[in-house]
Amino acid sequence: MLLVPIGSAGRQLTFNVTEAHNCGTCGELREFNLRLRYEWGSLFYLPVCVTERQYQLVCPVCEHGWVVQRRSGESMLGGDPIPWRHRNGWMVWTGIALVLGMALARSGGLV
Ligand SMILES: [Zn+2]
Repeated sequence: MLLVPIGSAGRQLTFNVTEAHNCGTCGELREFNLRLRYEWGSLFYLPVCVTERQYQLVCPVCEHGWVVQRRSGESMLGGDPIPWRHRNGWMVWTGIALVLGMALARSGGLV
């Protein structure tokens, strides 16, 4: 039996992007920080695609905050901050499959 290592991993990114809001927990005006938590699926320990992402605005003192829609978070940052390899690892896997398929076809393995 062949075991294919399939897994997932997660990461949190913080940015120097803030918005002033009244914190309901602290009871004061605070500069809420934007952060992104995301997870990706992997195959043979190489990322394949992002499986979950969540932008959050959080109070720097008490961590109280809320979820921000993806479009709003990315517009605050000017783009998608997730590294290319985490978002598009499936393209690498597709390329590997195509190369292996062509090599097999040329060697007569698929005839
Ligand atoms: Zn607070």
